[in-house]
Amino acid sequence: MSMFEDIPVDVGIIYEGERIRRKDMQVELGGPSLKEKFELAKVKPMNEVEDGKIAIIGPDIKDMEEGKAYPLGILVEAAGSALEEALEGVVERRIHGYLNFIEGFMHLNQRYDIWIRLGKKAFQKGLNSFTYIGKVLYKLFKSELPIIEKVQITFITDPAKINELYSEALQIYEARDARARGLKDEEVDKFYGCVLCQSFAPSHVCVITPQRYSNCGAISWFDGRASAQIDPKGPVFAIERGELVDAEKGEFSGVNEAVKKRTLGDVEQVWLYTAFDHPHTSCGCFEAVAFYIPEVEGFGIVNRSFNGVAVNGLPFSTLADSTAGGRQIDGFHGISIEYMRSKKFLASDDGWNRVVWLPKEVKERVKEFIPADVVDKIATEEDAQNIEALKAFLKEKKHPVVTRWTETAEVEEVSPEEATAEEGAMIPVATAGTLPIMAGGFKIILKDAKIYAKKVIIRSMKDEKKS
Ligand code: SF4
Repeated sequence: MSMFEDIPVDVGIIYEGERIRRKDMQVELGGPSLKEKFELAKVKPMNEVEDGKIAIIGPDIKDMEEGKAYPLGILVEAAGSALEEALEGVVERRIHGYLNFIEGFMHLNQRYDIWIRLGKKAFQKGLNSFTYIGKVLYKLFKSELPIIEKVQITFITDPAKINELYSEALQIYEARDARARGLKDEEVDKFYGCVLCQSFAPSHVCVITPQRYSNCGAISWFDGRASAQIDPKGPVFAIERGELVDAEKGEFSGVNEAVKKRTLGDVEQVWLYTAFDHPHTSCGCFEAVAFYIPEVEGFGIVNRSFNGVAVNGLPFSTLADSTAGGRQIDGFHGISIEYMRSKKFLASDDGWNRVVWLPKEVKERVKEFIPADVVDKIATEEDAQNIEALKAFLKEKKHPVVTRWTETAEVEEVSPEEATAEEGAMIPVATAGTLPIMAGGFKIILKDAKIYAKKVIIRSMKDEKKS
């Protein structure tokens, strides 16, 4: 007899990774169109938790209009004699995994960024109340994490109540992150790996070190340690750090071995502190993307909740598509906001001295961690909306990347054959792990593309405008 027989849809690991498109959705909960949403786990004293209680504050799913987006807060309150506040992050991250076991229910991201969709088919089968969602969470928490002795779950859809709890949730996330700051990678002999996102990105392994927070921004090194201890068969596991192969790039023999094993050989080498050559893989729920802008030899950063287009003319969704999937894409790097506060943040690429553009909101959040001599030299959407304006801004502010700009000869036409040392061989003019091309209403994706051209014409934008 299934433990989910009272749930109107199937529940199981096979539904992990299921995507629900807009046209197939009954309702959206949270997501990019709504500012305030959250999921939060709190550890409480035994007498303050009513085991199995599921509460709904505000309209239930059946009261929601088809096709619309609604705010949502999920509060999981747990108690157990061995359960400590330090485990809240671990409990909270399980919400993502467990909700994705539900047929026709998609959960993305974490904390203040949650994005959930319920499919029409699942709704028609009877999945029309948060009570069912709460029951699944309850049963999985109790069966998968025995350290939890009591748990109660509250779904909040009333905007006023969400508003009240949202700021409290932000303070709790910040306090959790602050606790994890200070420890250095060199001071520990174990890192932690997480494969929770392999359902969406099969060759992705997060390597969580004291100074490289997980991509989703939800698991610190301390959370990783706690998670591996309380649930050794779960998605988070210890990685023996092994030998330091390259201190500057952040290469460790134990990390290479663990990643190779957990990706079945797909990824063999990882450099933790760089976005080039062998960067840490990017799953799909990273909080932000660092993308290299060759024109200025620096990095732009765009985060998930930024609604505009980045300085290179692309929105977060397109940049995320070019980055995600568990691949190592040269110059495209999925990161968390907390990693931007680390001294190891892109350290091998010159760290903050290499960052040229980021949304104002993110800059404000990490401002105190940006070196004082560069903070005002990094542009936001208010300073530059395109590459030309960015170049002018960086030059005027004397951003450190400007010293990298060399006098390049004016090139009108370059023949790849001329640049080839070996006669008859052609070098690719562009390579990309995934190259999306938009044409005639279709999106064509070229995987592991290498593009060869007989002739490359480079024209400056100014010439283009004149002609
Ligand atoms: S982003 Fe990384 S740490 Fe976070 S859930 Fe996914 S695999 Fe785990």
